[in-house]
Amino acid sequence: MAQIGQILVDVPTMQTNDPYSYAIPSELEHQVQVGMRVIVPFGRGHRVVSGVVVGLTDVTSFDGELKPIQAVLDLAPVLNDELRALADWLADTTYAFRITCIQTMLPNQLKTQTERRVQPTQTLTPNEMATYFPDGAPREFTDKLDDATVAGLLKLQRAGKVEMIYQVKDRSAVKTTTGIKPALTAAKLQEIQGEVAKRAPKQADLLAYLQTMAPDTLIAQSTVVKAAHVSPAVITTAADKGWLTKSPLEVYRDPFQQPVKPTLPLQLNAEQQTAVTAISAAVDGHQTENFLVEGVTGSGKTEVYLQSIAVALQQGRTALMLVPEIALTPQMVNRVKARFGQRVAVLHSGLSKGEQYDEWRRIDRGEATVVVGARSAVFAPVKNLGIIIMDEEHETSYKQDENPRYHARDVALWRGRYNDCPVVLGSATPSLETRARAAKGLYTRLVLAKRVNDHPLPAVHIVDMREELKQHSEGDFSEPLLKAIQTRLDRKEQMVLMLNRRGYSSFVMCRDCGFVLKCPNCDISLTLHMDTHTMKCHYCGHEEAIPHVCPNCHSRKIRYYGTGTQKVEEALQKEFPTARILRMDVDSTRKKGAHERILKQFGQHQADILLGTQMIAKGLDFPNVTLVGVLNADTALGLPDFRASERTFQLLTQVSGRAGRASKPGEVYIQTFNPDHYAIQLAQQQDYERFFVTEMHMRHQGSYPPYYFAVQLTASHEDEATAAKAMYQIVAALKQGLSDKAIILGPTPKAIARVKRKYYYQVVIKYKQEAKLKPVLEQIRQAAQIPARHGLTVTIDSEPMNFM
Ligand code: ADP
Ligand code: ZN
Ligand code: ZN
Repeated sequence: MAQIGQILVDVPTMQTNDPYSYAIPSELEHQVQVGMRVIVPFGRGHRVVSGVVVGLTDVTSFDGELKPIQAVLDLAPVLNDELRALADWLADTTYAFRITCIQTMLPNQLKTQTERRVQPTQTLTPNEMATYFPDGAPREFTDKLDDATVAGLLKLQRAGKVEMIYQVKDRSAVKTTTGIKPALTAAKLQEIQGEVAKRAPKQADLLAYLQTMAPDTLIAQSTVVKAAHVSPAVITTAADKGWLTKSPLEVYRDPFQQPVKPTLPLQLNAEQQTAVTAISAAVDGHQTENFLVEGVTGSGKTEVYLQSIAVALQQGRTALMLVPEIALTPQMVNRVKARFGQRVAVLHSGLSKGEQYDEWRRIDRGEATVVVGARSAVFAPVKNLGIIIMDEEHETSYKQDENPRYHARDVALWRGRYNDCPVVLGSATPSLETRARAAKGLYTRLVLAKRVNDHPLPAVHIVDMREELKQHSEGDFSEPLLKAIQTRLDRKEQMVLMLNRRGYSSFVMCRDCGFVLKCPNCDISLTLHMDTHTMKCHYCGHEEAIPHVCPNCHSRKIRYYGTGTQKVEEALQKEFPTARILRMDVDSTRKKGAHERILKQFGQHQADILLGTQMIAKGLDFPNVTLVGVLNADTALGLPDFRASERTFQLLTQVSGRAGRASKPGEVYIQTFNPDHYAIQLAQQQDYERFFVTEMHMRHQGSYPPYYFAVQLTASHEDEATAAKAMYQIVAALKQGLSDKAIILGPTPKAIARVKRKYYYQVVIKYKQEAKLKPVLEQIRQAAQIPARHGLTVTIDSEPMNFM
């Protein structure tokens, strides 16, 4: 028996990657296992914290007396070998702490919290008692206490009159219902049944049912009530008489109550068949081969995923399927459930904590073998993976923008290697990183060039809003789009209109010529800062005055750009008084299940127009939609981000793909002030390959990813000078530690330089090969640990999604 447990403790203010040694008391010897959560004393006083056992040994380098583990929180490990190895790798590659990575992997319900209570140690004066302990009992010490109370309590603590007690709250509550099981043998029950048959027929019914039950299996009382046709009162009587026993029965909170109609595999077309054959071979051969499924919108990628998953299941293995945001893609989830039924577990943040925990346990126990979920589902405790699929792999929601700053794609590829199984990345518009890797032969590229049943891609029209505004008064709708809407209303067809909110009113554009102010040093749009009333470059810090006249055409119509969905809805309703409009934006989808409801209504043709933000661009498959309108294609183009063109191209292609998916042909209108921009031109032609080549060229010129790797560091503090000073020190350390081939941009204040009363400074490192990068960053992180207590936060983001 091991005597020492290696514990990673959960102490957020002083985290460490190295485990602490704790003694295992003899009464816990048979309980403690690697991967379990435990409670251990930490620091002075009565403080206890939670931690995770990462190793068991008999030796320690620590020569003092070891403190003992106080309690074990789990009956079985919550982290298996794979997830522990993954946590180590994640910590190493994202510069996050191991315990932070572990916490990220566990469902919320398993994240323990320490509860702090204050209690009097000696008799306080009646006055003190009344002020600080009005209930006469220890009180919870939370952030919600007002400053005066906190100050008073701290004063009493220094005087030794009160003490702080730390308790760990464990939230892993399991939901239960009343279960019953027979307490007597079937023979005995039969005998009693004979005795009561005449005078108590209902009791006899129950006794008859009890005889059919397996002796040691609990069945929910509600089930018995229905099956035996008896009332709960009869069951209570039977319990009193000792015929049966009642005990709590664990139930799962079922997040998907509505039954889904089952579907059978479709007859694949030639392109789909080629893809499924290639992927199946890798599944069969237990190969870590990775695939890029590059298929135009409506080419039937989902069917390829489903049939590949089926191959893994046939082999008794499991499948993990990642989607960008579950709430936005209910159709996708339903298609997976329709094919695989009860074997499917769905993980996402829209579930209650209890529901999440239930799904997590179904996966952990091997009851669910197909897991569908958004970003964090990549940590699902699914064992024996046979395939991992990542749909819409280019979506930025796959990258987490808090610690650990991981990209789910990297995690998926890691798990593919660990499980010897293929990873399938799918998209109509792959990220440049992925497409470039496929070009290098790192991924096998499978192309679905045609829509199913040879339906044509929609015809895309570009509307030059500069011309429109010259001829008509300023409005959100151009003449051609208004005409197209009217035609669809007449034909009783449906349409999707998108208002792009990304980059909304953060930049200044000329309404006459489409001119956007750019940084003279970086070729990146300048961002409007209302606090300083200036235009700033977020890359190099260049700053200039807000223009009142367009530098390009001297027009005075240069101003911020942006409008709201509600305003557009009103305008639209005014134009088409009888049109039925559904609006989908952050406001209309705040309530749980609102997305599904709106999409269901639209699917049942209870509305003609679905008007929304970019949340409507993804994955919708409605056969009756024949028109897509993009009201403002430009907003994202103006963002000071080297991926602005890529994002715009992806969004326009995705949203265009919603039109004409079935037999009726589709049409798309893109309203823009930049009709000649290559991202818009190539989106019109739906020519991903040419976009890829063009954009790669731009990235090469600007030394951006995927030609260079990038790391972003930020420092934040309430005092601007402190944040800036820390960043200058970091830059000095970088310049000293890295080779002169590394490009260091900054330090500069961040786009929104002041958030939540803190100032942010950043630096971006671009590099190709830097042997010293890891140790230098590690050193910076360690150095940042101590000032962290004084309010300075330093973050390291490897391959950031935004440079802003
Ligand atoms: P994508 O994800 O590539 O945009 P989908 O997977 O949504 O495309 O497929 C588009 C439509 O075509 C769906 O309604 C789907 O049911 C249908 N479909 C896919 N494959 C086939 C097939 N082999 N035969 C007939 N219909 C198909
Ligand atoms: Zn102009
Ligand atoms: Zn600049």
